[in-house]
Amino acid sequence: MNSSATMTRSNEPEDVEVHNRSEHPGLARRSAGWIEVIAGSMFSGKSEELIRRLRRAKIARQKVQVFKPEIDKRFSQDHIVSHSEMKHESANVRTAADVRANIQPDTEVVGIDEAQFFDNELIQVVNELAELGMRVIVAGLDQDYTGKPWEPMPQLLAVAEYITKTHAICVKCSQPANYSQRIFESEERVAVGATGMYEARCRQCFVPHADAPTIHPD
Ligand code: ADP
Ligand code: ZN
Repeated sequence: MNSSATMTRSNEPEDVEVHNRSEHPGLARRSAGWIEVIAGSMFSGKSEELIRRLRRAKIARQKVQVFKPEIDKRFSQDHIVSHSEMKHESANVRTAADVRANIQPDTEVVGIDEAQFFDNELIQVVNELAELGMRVIVAGLDQDYTGKPWEPMPQLLAVAEYITKTHAICVKCSQPANYSQRIFESEERVAVGATGMYEARCRQCFVPHADAPTIHPD
């Protein structure tokens, strides 16, 4: 518990921002941007963490643009919404190329949620935006319901400057959960949903095919 909290703090990209500025006072040209990836299972707090970072950027009066794939219309068409009902404005787009096409030249921070639903061109797009000087924050599921790495997340994790791995709480045993357990019958890789369709599970409690939902005593 303690060690993971320490790890997250030392990965805090905000610390790096401050460090860079103090090293290069009065830097005239726009400095290079970077990529941050927030990866983990369902219910692990990826959207909350993304929204937290975006809110801080807005407080710092930075120009922020946020995108999510059109497939994810669960809670809202024009907001990213966490399971804890935090939300932030966003634009729905169909492809990674649409992200590129909709970026405004004065944008400083780009947020992308549910990155696993995008095509592999997203890797090139986020690299381009970072090279243009933008801070790109990408959140997504790193594994599907069978535990298989979900592209383009593995490649995004490879090219990112900063990585945060979030964990949920295993609903069976309360250990940190790294897996999204599907609890209904379907062989489709993409079945968009949350509560009642998936559960957070640890390695020990994860069964990589449909399983009965965990019954809570309350
Ligand atoms: P993600 O984007 O990773 O799916 P969210 O940011 O949308 O996660 O939601 C995280 C929130 O989900 C938590 O703050 C908590 O309120 C809720 N939640 C529901 N089930 C769990 C669980 N098993 N473990 C942790 N948080 C859970
Ligand atoms: Zn468990």
